[in-house]
Amino acid sequence: MIRKITTDKPYVFITMDDGAVKDPSALEEIKKSGGHPVLFLNQVYVKGHEKYFKDILAQTGAVLGDHTVNHPNLKGKPLEFQKKEICDDADDFQRELGVRPTLFRPPFGVYDQTTLQAAAECGMRAAIHWTASVNDGVVQFQVGNKLRPGDIVLMHFRKTFKEDYEAFLARAKQDGLTPVPLTDFLG
Ligand SMILES: [Zn+2]
Repeated sequence: MIRKITTDKPYVFITMDDGAVKDPSALEEIKKSGGHPVLFLNQVYVKGHEKYFKDILAQTGAVLGDHTVNHPNLKGKPLEFQKKEICDDADDFQRELGVRPTLFRPPFGVYDQTTLQAAAECGMRAAIHWTASVNDGVVQFQVGNKLRPGDIVLMHFRKTFKEDYEAFLARAKQDGLTPVPLTDFLG
C-alpha cells in the first residue's frame, strides 16, 4: 500500500475516484492541464457511460485504476468476496474500455491483509492510498498546510469536478509542484 511517493523533485500526483457524476468539462479540463490523473473507477458508475471514460483515457494520458465494482467496504470480508469485487472491475474494464487496470485503490481507503492478497491475485501491482484530498473546491492536507513533493491527492467525479480540479492545480502551482504520472514512480 503506497500512501506517498518518495521523491526530492517537486512532483505531485492527482487521482480521481468513483465516476458517479460525468461532468462534460472533465475531458477538456484534464487535457489542457496535462495533469496525468489516475482514475480509480467503479464499474457500477462506468456502466452505460463507457464513451465518456474512454475519451478521457484516450485523449488525456490518464491511467485507469481499479476501485471495485460496487464500492463496498472490503475490510473483514472473505477473500472470494474481495476478489470478485476487484477482479470483476478489472475484467469489465478490459472488455468495455479496452484497458486492464493494474493499480488498485480500496473504497474509502479501508482494507485488510486479505484485500492486498485479493488485489495481487487479480493482477494489481500496487495499492494506492492518498495524503491530501479536494472537497468542495478546497484542498485538505493530512499533514501541514500545503502540498509536499510526492503527495498523492484524491478528488472525485462530482458535481464540483471543475472547481475541485482547478483548486488542485492552483494549489500545486502555489506550492511549486508539477503534476506528473504516478505510474512513472512505481518502479
Ligand atoms: Zn471511492
